Amino acid sequence: MDNLIGCPEQKLNEIMVGWGEKPYRSHQVFNWVYHYGIRQFGDMTNLSKALRKKLEERFYIRLPRIVMSTPSRDGSIKYLFGLEDGQEVEAIWMPETDRKTLCISTQVGCRLACSFCLTASMGLKRHLTSAEIIGQYLAVNADHTEENRVSNIVFMGMGEPLDNYDAVCDALRLMVSPEALRISTRKITLSTSGLVDRIERFKSENLHVNLAISLNATDNPTRDQIMPINRKYPIEVLLDCLRTYPLKPSRRLTFEYVMLKGINDTDEDARRLAKLLRNIPSKINLIPFNAFDSADYQPPAPQRVQAFQDYLIGKHYSVFVRKNRGTDILGACGQLALQNS
Ligand code: SF4
Repeated sequence: MDNLIGCPEQKLNEIMVGWGEKPYRSHQVFNWVYHYGIRQFGDMTNLSKALRKKLEERFYIRLPRIVMSTPSRDGSIKYLFGLEDGQEVEAIWMPETDRKTLCISTQVGCRLACSFCLTASMGLKRHLTSAEIIGQYLAVNADHTEENRVSNIVFMGMGEPLDNYDAVCDALRLMVSPEALRISTRKITLSTSGLVDRIERFKSENLHVNLAISLNATDNPTRDQIMPINRKYPIEVLLDCLRTYPLKPSRRLTFEYVMLKGINDTDEDARRLAKLLRNIPSKINLIPFNAFDSADYQPPAPQRVQAFQDYLIGKHYSVFVRKNRGTDILGACGQLALQNS
């Protein structure tokens, strides 16, 4: 038996056509599951009883279980999900006046060993399935009233999304499909640490969601030290790959830059960053490091962050300083899951 949540449209279609059903029947099933939130095949009243029984014998419909939801003083809510094999992952719901953003996880742990990231200390336990990825969104929405439903999704929780390539692409396809969740590609952001071979492959997926690159350094020795993936794909190789990324008109790449005091926050770094991103349609998010107990790093002083931002703005970049959301509820990547493991 498979979870119907996360099942690719084409696969469901093939199964149902194999049962002698018309192709539009799979659209009806998707409509019940993703549009009306129906979780029992028996409630899909426009399907014959015989078909409902076949579906029941082949599929189940299950969302990740919310083990804990912790509200923060800043209004965000951290969700801890229990998975069927007992593993746990987290997502964070962040309200702003014009949007409600959900940050979701794609793996239990991560193998990329970035030195500023708490999830890295778990290593990779396993990939999430497409059901578990999309299920975080469905479960959080079910926990909110209409006006607080998620409007934007960012793949920036636990794990490197492109390291779990197939499940992430299946989940993205369901998110943007007119037959499933119908979310605009403009409202979904996939973040990567820079797996160049996977970015190359992603270029031809025709998904057109926003791409964010976790850059975090402006020279190879520093990036080698804080993001070991840089030893395989150094900065110039990564940026070359991004120069040919197929962007829709008026869209830009986002560069995430976690600021670590004394490591990557100097005036020289700001100058190098401006040079590196020249001729790449980009916006830059500066994220002062969100310290955790065992961390080797500190966030820079607010004046340092301001000076860094001002320099880049002076070079005509769009630069935003991202607040750390949910710091009072352990908002840094991986912290809540670790605390409970
Ligand atoms: S920052 Fe992202 S890619 Fe790096 S170890 Fe953490 S979860 Fe993995």
